Amino acid sequence: SKEVNLYSQRHYAVDKLQYENFQKLTGIKVNVIKANADELIERLKNEGEDSPADLFVTVDAGKLYRASKMGLLQKISNKIIDTNVSPDLKDKNGYWIPITYRARILVYSNQRVEKNDLSTYEELVDEKWKGRILARSSSNAYNQALMSSIVANLGSDLASSWSKGIVRNFARDPKGSDRDQVKAIAAGQGDIAIVNSYYIGLLLSSEKEEELNAGKSVTVFFPNQAENERGSHINVSGIGLAKYSPNKENAIKLMEYLTSEEAQNTYVNNSYEYPANPNVTPSEIVQSWGTFKRDTLDLNMLGKYRDEAIRIFDKTGWK
Ligand code: FE
Repeated sequence: SKEVNLYSQRHYAVDKLQYENFQKLTGIKVNVIKANADELIERLKNEGEDSPADLFVTVDAGKLYRASKMGLLQKISNKIIDTNVSPDLKDKNGYWIPITYRARILVYSNQRVEKNDLSTYEELVDEKWKGRILARSSSNAYNQALMSSIVANLGSDLASSWSKGIVRNFARDPKGSDRDQVKAIAAGQGDIAIVNSYYIGLLLSSEKEEELNAGKSVTVFFPNQAENERGSHINVSGIGLAKYSPNKENAIKLMEYLTSEEAQNTYVNNSYEYPANPNVTPSEIVQSWGTFKRDTLDLNMLGKYRDEAIRIFDKTGWK
């Protein structure tokens, strides 16, 4: 058959464009069911062998790890995909592939913070930030992945005291999206926000004046860059091949396409994510922030330590 079925957690306009381009090129129609990752995992599990899903698309390596551990994915070994993507972004177990990556960075108020005031995620617990930090809820996978990386790198005890310190310094109770945290800085409700990098690109290229102004009111800061530091936390958006994929050949063709230079250019210039393909350069806006060192933690750890991360959030009152 000339189709491929996606269960996708991605929520960005660029995806529709990618799938249309793929269909033009190959004649294969891409059908997309969108929901959050846990709902899609549940659906894959319940459907079992009868599942129509070919590919599971997420914005979090942790969820891909979870799906692989639940036996919902099959290993992929494909030379084209393998040469298309950066080695350090790959799944060491072979169950999923990266399509883009993103850093969970800090942005600071141009009016009230100086670059030299900032250094690491850990330093945000300093008293000087009391009442000044903005972040969304801990129910969000982006924050859970960040906390998982802190547990993996520093251990549970330090991760707990870090969480407590951040909660102590919150400008307000967590609410809203990453974009809303930046808007809150523009409105003077806080001075530092923890956000995914591409949202700043989306704000700076927005046609809505409120969003554009929010983007312009802040500067991007990559934490943990000093020589002895581990680098900024990153996560991938990635794809796993479903265990019972009925259109496996088409599914692999789509994975090859999405990691190709053509499709990677489409991603970076529309969603402001970083390319998984090292031959492609980020968009101009993203390049203007400079290069950064990324935390090279095995991305499966973002899934392995997820339950512990959630436990720490609950225990320390990060709502
Ligand atoms: Fe997002």
